[in-house]
Amino acid sequence: MPIDADRVRRIARQHVETTGLLGVDFMPVCAVETQATALESLRSRHDGECPHCTTATGHTRTVFGEGSPDASLMFIGEAPGYEEDQTGRPFVGRAGQMLDKIIKAMGLRRQDVYIANVLKSRPPDNRTPLPTEVDACSPYLAEQIRVIRPTVIVSLGNPSTKFLLRTSSGITKLRGNWATYTDGTLSIPLMPTFHPAYLLRNYTQSTRREVWSDMQAVMQRLGNRAE
Ligand code: URA
Repeated sequence: MPIDADRVRRIARQHVETTGLLGVDFMPVCAVETQATALESLRSRHDGECPHCTTATGHTRTVFGEGSPDASLMFIGEAPGYEEDQTGRPFVGRAGQMLDKIIKAMGLRRQDVYIANVLKSRPPDNRTPLPTEVDACSPYLAEQIRVIRPTVIVSLGNPSTKFLLRTSSGITKLRGNWATYTDGTLSIPLMPTFHPAYLLRNYTQSTRREVWSDMQAVMQRLGNRAE
C-alpha cells in the first residue's frame, strides 16, 4: 500500500497553519512527512536495485511493506506468498487475515502499525528464504526499521526472528520472551511470536493462548491495555 499521502498532506497543512498563526516564517520539517518520504525513496531504491531478484526468480512484483511511517509497532514476517506477490501488499492472504484479527484484537487498525518482511519478493514455491537472499534483501529492512524507529517490533516466526536477533535458536524456545533488536546505536525491544501461518496450521487453544499472551505483553509495553 502506498504511504498515506492524505495524512502527510494534512500534517504538513497543520504545520503551515500553525506557523502562520504563530507568526514565524519558517516551516519545521515534519517528522512523519520526512519518514514517509524516506520510505518512498527507499522503496524506489529497492525496486531499482532489487539484488535478490536474481535468485528469487519468478515473482510478479515486489512487496515493500505498508502501514504508518511513524508506527509504534512493527510486525516483521518472512517473505511474500502468492497473494502478496499478486497484490504487492504484505500479509493479505490467509496468514494475513489471521494477522489482521490479531491486530484488531489488540485494539489497533492495520494502518496504525507497519508490516514488512525480511524478503521483499516471493521465493519460488514459497520456499524458506535462502541465506544469500536474506543477505541481499535485509539491508532494506534494516533501513526501514531505522526510518520508522518503532517502539516495539514483533517478529513473526523463525526466519524473521533468527535474522533480527542474529540467533540460531528456534521460535518455540524464543517466543514470549522479550529480546532486543540492535543496529548500531539503535536498540528496540522485540517480541518473537509464532507466524500467523503456523497459528492457522496449529489452531489449538494452547497456541492461540501463547500468541495472545505475547501480544498482551506487547500492548503493555506500548502502554495500552489489551484484555
Ligand atoms: N507470510 C509472510 O511471512 N509474509 C507475508 O507477507 C505473507 C505471508
